[in-house]
Amino acid sequence: MDGKVRSIEKMEDKSIDLCLFNGAIRTSEQEYMAKLLRQKSKTLVAFGSCAQEGCIPGLANVTNRDEIFHTAYFDTPSTVNPEGVVPLTEYEADEGMLTLPYFYNTVKTLGQTVDVDYYIPGCPPEADDIWDALVAILEGKLPPPGSVIGKHTTVCDQCDMIRSEKKIKGFKRTWEVIPDGKTCLLEQGILCMGIATRAACGGMCPKVNSPCIGCHGPNEGVKDIGARMMTALASVIDSNDPEEIERIIREGIPDPVGSFYKFNLAGSMLRRSAFTGSESAPSGAAAETA
Ligand code: SF4
Repeated sequence: MDGKVRSIEKMEDKSIDLCLFNGAIRTSEQEYMAKLLRQKSKTLVAFGSCAQEGCIPGLANVTNRDEIFHTAYFDTPSTVNPEGVVPLTEYEADEGMLTLPYFYNTVKTLGQTVDVDYYIPGCPPEADDIWDALVAILEGKLPPPGSVIGKHTTVCDQCDMIRSEKKIKGFKRTWEVIPDGKTCLLEQGILCMGIATRAACGGMCPKVNSPCIGCHGPNEGVKDIGARMMTALASVIDSNDPEEIERIIREGIPDPVGSFYKFNLAGSMLRRSAFTGSESAPSGAAAETA
């Protein structure tokens, strides 16, 4: 809803029955809104993958603010910026002081920013799951606080592909092979995240020969989706030679972070790469845009 910040600030604390919060926390404005809506809401739900686990924006945690600004405002071929202008949090214009939110080094999840009551997973959340969650919340039939409202099985459990003993000699990118339409994609050497991913889709992607990419995040009990996938893959590669195993993974999965943590890096145990730099917004940074 297009609620205006000033209107929300004037509301009584806990006067919003249910807040579905969409989006990860990257800027001081988003952080301010997360804290404000936490204060004003009885029940705060991290709605969707961005709020729950950082989603695609969370992949920016392999780098930092300075590198992102350098790419966006200097390096890209279509950028013309001879004066080297980058976004400022404050600018004295003729009309008065203009402010922008501060852009943090790190993308955080909602749960890393404020207390969250429930999580509805998915990029995007499935309609059935949203309906079930709303009914559960309205009827007060809720799981313990902090729970994910959704299914508690894996995509593999919803997948019709035929599975046998997995023995993989190598991984192939999706454009390198036409799957046979019957056999488990992982057994055909295609990286499929169904083993570690929470079900919600009915196995929609493998049904059309496309591997699961993990868009509903880790299943119940899976602490880290990438670690779970690496454990699973280590047990299905058909070799005992560490060097060959390393070669198979290096050649077949050239982008492990993008493959294993496409939706989950900010919420994972890795969370981000090492960096140096301040994480606090300057005092003049806008809490919210004008
Ligand atoms: Fe289906 Fe993928 Fe699981 Fe294989 S790994 S059973 S293709 S979801």
